Amino acid sequence: MKSIVCTEPGKLIIEERSDPTPPKDWVTLKMKRVGLCGTDFHIFKGLHPFLEYPRVMGHELSGEILETPRNGRFSVGDKVIINPYLSCDNCVSCKKSKSNCCVNLKVLGVHTDGGMCEFLCLPERAIYSARGLTLTEAAMVEFLSIGAHAVSRGQLLAGSRILVIGAGPIGLGVALFASFEEASAVAILDVNMERVVFAENLSDAFSGFVVDDDVDEKLREFTKGDMFDVVFDATGNAQSMEKSLDYTSHGGACVFVSVVKDKIRFSDPFFHAREMKIIGSRNANRIDFENVIDKIHSGKIPSSELNSHNIDLLDLPKQLPTWIENGTGLVKAIAHL
Ligand SMILES: [Zn+2]
Ligand SMILES: [Zn+2]
Repeated sequence: MKSIVCTEPGKLIIEERSDPTPPKDWVTLKMKRVGLCGTDFHIFKGLHPFLEYPRVMGHELSGEILETPRNGRFSVGDKVIINPYLSCDNCVSCKKSKSNCCVNLKVLGVHTDGGMCEFLCLPERAIYSARGLTLTEAAMVEFLSIGAHAVSRGQLLAGSRILVIGAGPIGLGVALFASFEEASAVAILDVNMERVVFAENLSDAFSGFVVDDDVDEKLREFTKGDMFDVVFDATGNAQSMEKSLDYTSHGGACVFVSVVKDKIRFSDPFFHAREMKIIGSRNANRIDFENVIDKIHSGKIPSSELNSHNIDLLDLPKQLPTWIENGTGLVKAIAHL
């Protein structure tokens, strides 16, 4: 089968590999769509902290069932969504139903070869039905579920004022799922004006802010002096994460959605005076995937607006470097097979 392989940082090639054979009780999938995300760009650029090359990337995936074990839940030809977080089901975290932060977690396309190939074999529990979704929507469930999970971690109350920092796909997913929770206000902050405008056009519930000299004052005014009940940082930037605490109200919470390699520092008196919570959010669980699928079914996700670019997967080795050089207007690119 044809596979797109990142052989070393900066090098992406098409390679002929042997078709996989499924272990007992696993299903074989024909891959159909692969969403591109910041993680893939990081892997390509050699910035991912724990990555071994060569690696087949791709963790935002949809496909069709090609082969299924007898008595399996799926039928040949079923359209499916893949949960790329392969958990052990046996560790301290899995036993608390938190497979998203499994001690032995393997993420497809990161720790193990992913979906930028023709066929993939997986255990049934990593696969959800995509009935009622297009294959492209099905490949968008994973990144949106990161947002849905982060919002569940933030435990919003009705009327909460929300700030999402970072208007990339993950931040937009967070903002959408926050708006479904009857938050009274969802503000989105980014350094890039173009991204802020895009976010504002996505939902009437969003108010956009661009980082400038007066932004703190504007955000204070927006919240009548209180600052925000829950702040989500989806920037992948340590400075922004430290700064996000400044935007959190007394009694509020700050959810770190994206991850950085650096240490995060904060002032303890500031933290204590607010009795604020700093909450980590990692990946997503089945319940988050199901929440996203439900919202797509009910027409609440502007999936065609989010899907800014489409490409044939075999053209990716040529296209990816140009996107890295100039990603203007790129929100969610989907590769097709
Ligand atoms: Zn992703
Ligand atoms: Zn585990």
